[in-house]
Amino acid sequence: MAHQPSILTSFYKEPGPKLDQESPFDSMMERFRFAADILQLDEGMFQYLASPVKQVIVSVPIVMDDGKIKVFEGFRVIHDNVLGPSKGGVRFAPDVHLDEVKALAAWMTWKCAVVNVPFGGAKGGIRCNPKELSKGELERLTRRYTANLLEVFGPDRDIPAPDMNTDEQVMAWIMDTYSMNSLRTETAVVTGKPIILGGSQGRKEATGRGVVTVTLAALSKMGLMPNKTTVVVQGFGNVGSVSAQLMYEQGAKVIAISDISGGYYNANGIDIPEAIKFMNDNNRSLEGYSNADPISNEDLLQLSCDVLIPAAKEDQINRHNAHKIDAKIVSEGANGPVTANADSILEDNGVMVIPDILANAGGVTVSYFEWVQDRQGYFWTEERVNRRLNRMMRSAFDNLYGVAEKHNITLRQAAYVYAIDRVAETLKLRGIYA
Ligand code: NAD
Repeated sequence: MAHQPSILTSFYKEPGPKLDQESPFDSMMERFRFAADILQLDEGMFQYLASPVKQVIVSVPIVMDDGKIKVFEGFRVIHDNVLGPSKGGVRFAPDVHLDEVKALAAWMTWKCAVVNVPFGGAKGGIRCNPKELSKGELERLTRRYTANLLEVFGPDRDIPAPDMNTDEQVMAWIMDTYSMNSLRTETAVVTGKPIILGGSQGRKEATGRGVVTVTLAALSKMGLMPNKTTVVVQGFGNVGSVSAQLMYEQGAKVIAISDISGGYYNANGIDIPEAIKFMNDNNRSLEGYSNADPISNEDLLQLSCDVLIPAAKEDQINRHNAHKIDAKIVSEGANGPVTANADSILEDNGVMVIPDILANAGGVTVSYFEWVQDRQGYFWTEERVNRRLNRMMRSAFDNLYGVAEKHNITLRQAAYVYAIDRVAETLKLRGIYA
């Protein structure tokens, strides 16, 4: 990026020398600094927005199935609560650490601000290997973690959600533990719950649906008809398969899909409902899918197409392959699939990137709807959820498109500029409590 940041924060780990692999968090901070420069944020405000409001580390002791005590380490970071209660997932993974949780919490702040959801950003996690834990051990771990954070969590304070290796069941345990301690059922303390426990219709498909809403908006800005476009999707899990299905329903030709087993290419278009059925019947894997030719995940990214949706993992489009991307639009279903140093290469080549903090914000938007419904005690139809989701995503896209045009910057830069400005303006109105 040509634009050099003028202020640095010491709070977050400095990027250090540029290695081949760029951490998504360093990418996020680079983009944050760029936007702060455009906004000419003063140093105090910059420091405020770069510093998490609260960082909690708890030790989480549980009795294992063999009767022995084992102590795990749990984290919860609230990056910001200027716009409202903080919101963010809880992950269970062996490599969870405070720096990562801090960066992910900040990411949530910008994501909520971009789609005008009245939440701040947070993230949490427990350092553990969930594959080595029995269901009973996982339940005790979740409940003790929740109990240790009772003063942090709350429907008006901080609202957890699922993330890596946590699911509806884990959310149900958090909700129940919090409720038992509050002496009343408090469904709004957590989102991503099973529908029967106050979850929302449409939540599971929300992220992919949001990806498609903003992709269609981008196509229309380019004067392209969805039914005349070709699409490539990397990753065929929750986000990728729903995105592929909805683009297929729009009449687009999905010429390649992939998962961890490899890529599958068919120039005539893949029958997505059939591929989804194959995957569901095949233990959630595309391995052995035969109605397409095999292609490596690397080559798949370089296929000539109108829309590329990376929906697998971070760091997929980087400075080594960015110049080979042959798509008009890259719509970031995953978090951080394009590194910061690939941004300018794509920009120079005229590729429009719809940034993750916009493209995959459908999930947090429907989490917000879930929270609203729980607080109302009145539940919406799936049709109403989808309609409101489409409206919010479309309006967020149009808004950022306008910001990008105004400053002559990319959509990603516009997303950070808008989000940071929105939080900073709100903070100015609220003032600093003393
Ligand atoms: P998932 O586990 O359901 O699916 C991931 C898919 O990617 C699987 O098909 C897996 O096989 C594939 N994959 C993994 N490594 C790959 C590789 N090297 N090459 C090709 N494919 C590979 O996960 P998900 O929920 O769909 O999430 C995908 C991404 O979207 C993640 O970055 C996640 O953080 C992000 N995201 C998800 C949500 C959500 O609501 N699920 C919301 C926001 C962001």
